[in-house]
Amino acid sequence: MINEQDKKYLLDSIRAIKDFPKEGIVFRDITTLLNNKEAFSFLMNHLEQKYKDKNIDYIAGIESRGFIFGAALSAKLNLPFVPIRKPGKLPSKCLQESYSLEYGQDTIEIHIDAFNNTQNAKVLLIDDLIATGGTAIAAVKLIQKLKANCFEACFLLNLKDLQGSEELSKFTSVYSVLEV
Ligand code: AMP
Repeated sequence: MINEQDKKYLLDSIRAIKDFPKEGIVFRDITTLLNNKEAFSFLMNHLEQKYKDKNIDYIAGIESRGFIFGAALSAKLNLPFVPIRKPGKLPSKCLQESYSLEYGQDTIEIHIDAFNNTQNAKVLLIDDLIATGGTAIAAVKLIQKLKANCFEACFLLNLKDLQGSEELSKFTSVYSVLEV
């Protein structure tokens, strides 16, 4: 699948910025990966190979960096793409799910007809990074509320000390290309 050397190559293409957006956070900046055409193509080819024979019906991406990888993979696999967005962005009727942040709450939304009322649609969920897992768990709940099946959640990067991946794995299978 993907060996240690390839992982190091991809990880080196992601820039780490200390104290952004606030002190104590190491922000993983994927714009440097997107800006590196070999690294971006390598990543997308890996995901294409991993998921091409899995009979997936839809790819759902979480705003906003999940849109980049999710939509690119949808085009490669010839699959429909579903955006899961921050509140007030999707124009038609939506379902909402709220989740806790360190301070306060956040909400994400999905269009109620995102899976065209297909019963048990097989959905691959994508985001760039999993930290606490709160966003992804809310996204899985939205997918399930629409009677679809989140078959796996896929991330480029897992911040493993935060144990979000363990939490999320209570709801769906989890795959991360890289871990730090
Ligand atoms: P969480 O809900 O805690 O798993 O946070 C995941 C979301 O927050 C993802 O959409 C990430 O893009 C973003 N995020 C959280 N921590 C970081 C970080 N250290 N660097 C970059 N993005 C992050």
